[in-house]
Amino acid sequence: MEAMRWLGRALTMAAQATAVTWTVWGRIAPERPLEIDENDALWAAAYTPDYRPNPPLRGALRADVAIIGGGFTGVSTAYHMSRRFPDRRIVLLEARSLGNGATGRNGGMMLHWLPPEESLGPELDRRIYQVTDQGMDTIQAIIRRHRLDVSCRRDGCLTVFTDPRRAEEAHAEVEYRRSLGIPDRFVDRETLERELGFQAGYGAILDPRAGQLNGAQYVRALRPVLQDQGVEIYEQTPVYRVDEGRIIRLVTPQGEVRADAVVLATNGYTGKLGYFRDAVFPVIAHVMALGPLTPEDWEAVGWRRWAGYNDDLDRIAYSTRTQEGYMVFGGGSRHAVEYIFGNGTAYRGDARRSARALAGMRRTLHRYLPGSRDLPVVSHWTGTLGLTLRRNVLMGVRGEYRNLYYAVGFSGHGVTLTNVAGEVLTDLYAGDDCRWRGLPFLFDSYSPLPPEPFRWLGYQLFTRVVGHLPRERR
Ligand SMILES: Cc1cc2nc3c(=O)[nH]c(=O)nc-3n(C[C@H](O)[C@H](O)[C@H](O)COP(=O)(O)OP(=O)(O)OC[C@H]3O[C@@H](n4cnc5c(N)ncnc54)[C@H](O)[C@@H]3O)c2cc1C
Repeated sequence: MEAMRWLGRALTMAAQATAVTWTVWGRIAPERPLEIDENDALWAAAYTPDYRPNPPLRGALRADVAIIGGGFTGVSTAYHMSRRFPDRRIVLLEARSLGNGATGRNGGMMLHWLPPEESLGPELDRRIYQVTDQGMDTIQAIIRRHRLDVSCRRDGCLTVFTDPRRAEEAHAEVEYRRSLGIPDRFVDRETLERELGFQAGYGAILDPRAGQLNGAQYVRALRPVLQDQGVEIYEQTPVYRVDEGRIIRLVTPQGEVRADAVVLATNGYTGKLGYFRDAVFPVIAHVMALGPLTPEDWEAVGWRRWAGYNDDLDRIAYSTRTQEGYMVFGGGSRHAVEYIFGNGTAYRGDARRSARALAGMRRTLHRYLPGSRDLPVVSHWTGTLGLTLRRNVLMGVRGEYRNLYYAVGFSGHGVTLTNVAGEVLTDLYAGDDCRWRGLPFLFDSYSPLPPEPFRWLGYQLFTRVVGHLPRERR
């Protein structure tokens, strides 16, 4: 295990070393064009079947702020900015429809965010917990304030340990978190079996203030609210080019926007606009859903409490139980997460690859929850996330005129933090970002990724070597 871990670190160092070849390979290596496929995830298909995207932008317009991307990041930025600056002209440009990206396709777990590597020390760990906890409070407050019909609850999520030693070590982590005032607690193996039907775990950390949010429902329900607040929303409007300057020009298929400030809220797709190509790369993740299960089905599975769980492996498996009785499950297999050569942003797998991903997910689910073995899978989809080498998130402002705002690099724990991002970017834009200073995502640096073909090769090696190992912190 230790040898594999060292190999993983060596691969990361090799990635950094080959990153110096950007000037050569970055020009030669092929880059796929922007591809955004239709969202057919359960969250969108079953819960927002009547949603119709707004018409595209036709013609030219002038704006104070133009936001590119209609996921959590773009929508939360539009929400907070339009409340803070009601007189400014804010437009949001989305390539397809709100919630078409990871926001409307994810595992649905609404989590606190902790630094992906080791602890940053008590002070920062506590602050990060508080920031993400308030982020969830804000999501719930927005739902209440505007009476949105959105499925959202906070009945707790677990990180399950699949190895007795790591489960033992988790006691110390719980103690540490409790010393910071974080109300997490340890759940023993017997309780896991009894309350979750989980048979392959040795214990878990319960985060009782985490929960679940239907992202597609949330951002789509917010469209009329944003429009009432004066935001102009153009869907079916991919931005093809960003021309920087004191006034930034955005080129779309049938029009253009000239804006004083622009927000990149495009996460895994950001490289296609020419930004963060050496920082964030798109990874395609598979998810499936079972159900809707009857109360008898749930009884047979043994899942009686809690919104969801994830395991402790780098190739993370995660699952949630929706209020309406669906079981959503993702990851848990090398085949369930893919990187497409040339930064592919849409899944291009054939039937054989899809079947392999599905079989991998089912195998893990059946090992974890044997009671689910006979339940049929009713839906299978993919989503694109944006990964950085250190799995850190990047928020800030850049450009010669300091007018290009960004919040990118959200991978597994993005639901809460992308919603916090809207507040962070609004404060940055307003010039009073002091409450966020010192947090590890604001103006964070990143380890450069290698260009192709090293990127593809590195990913293949990394996922084979490190994927089945435990994640380093949790
Ligand atoms: C399969 C999967 C499971 C996940 N599970 C969880 C989970 O359980 N819990 C958790 O916390 N996080 C989870 N995540 C992560 C989380 O969903 C993301 O971090 C988060 O949704 C990112 O939101 P975003 O708004 O930044 O990006 P996105 O939701 O991807 O939104 C970006 C938007 O920008 C649009 N766009 C892109 N390029 C352009 C362009 N050039 N012009 C116009 N529009 C453009 C896209 O169409 C898209 O709608 C998961 C992600 C995936 C993919």
